Amino acid sequence: MKAAFPGSFDPPTLGHLNIIQRAAGIFDELLVVIAENRQKKYLFSAEERAAMLRQLAGEHSNVSVCVCDILIVDFLRKEGINLLIRGVRGMEDFSYEFELSMVYKALDSGIETLFMTTDPEYFVLRSSSIKEIAAFKGNVTGMVPPLVAEELEKKYRLLGITTLQK
Ligand code: ADP
Repeated sequence: MKAAFPGSFDPPTLGHLNIIQRAAGIFDELLVVIAENRQKKYLFSAEERAAMLRQLAGEHSNVSVCVCDILIVDFLRKEGINLLIRGVRGMEDFSYEFELSMVYKALDSGIETLFMTTDPEYFVLRSSSIKEIAAFKGNVTGMVPPLVAEELEKKYRLLGITTLQK
């Protein structure tokens, strides 16, 4: 059985990787789908996010990574996948994810969304707060893999934000 795990992954966190690892153990194939929405502003380009995820998920031979810049339901139809995995950190995530799953159903009644609860050590991890911490040169060890911590450091150095803090 093939499943897709869509998200922004801007950047990938240990919480995302936990879901990828557990889903890879359940499904025959897992496609990590990086959302590229022109109306959204990302810190990392879709290709940068894909490169990080490919390295991080490299140990799982049944996981592949791709970028999607169209409606996810249309993308899934094209790929012949009807199963979506979404991670849930708490009730707030659940109400948002539940509504989203209803929208997917309205767009394509064949799409099934499965929710995977986070493992307890990852439930506070959120890409947006990690970016904020990294922008202020805070320590993100234990929140993201070392590769992502390095990329965050590089990115903010390039953006000159770390210089502005001085
Ligand atoms: P976020 O900005 O919320 O981290 P993403 O769009 O990158 O967002 O998330 C993709 C999917 O991963 C969503 O289903 C989200 O709920 C899930 N997710 C994000 N962080 C975690 C976490 N720490 N534990 C479990 N699932 C998570």
